[in-house]
Amino acid sequence: MTARSETGTDPVVVRVDRDRCIGSGMCALSAPGSLALGADGLAEPVAEYAAGGAELTEALTEAVDFCPVEALTLHSAFGGHRIAPAE
Ligand code: SF4
Repeated sequence: MTARSETGTDPVVVRVDRDRCIGSGMCALSAPGSLALGADGLAEPVAEYAAGGAELTEALTEAVDFCPVEALTLHSAFGGHRIAPAE
């Protein structure tokens, strides 16, 4: 397993707690290639994991921070440690 990335370039996994999500859509605006609203109006990841480098990790971190109900978490695809919100 890969150790924690210090460069933010590892593939990442964004998770949505759909019991918390209220469908505001803010995350889909912040990271439209990675998060979208599903048919039920709640957010869902577009793909199992995202490999967009530091820029995408930054966009997803912003999405996590902007979620009004703290429904999003961002993890490294390697090792699974949480990137955002900070532990
Ligand atoms: S920002 Fe949060 S509440 Fe809004 S759609 Fe995304 S996960 Fe749901």
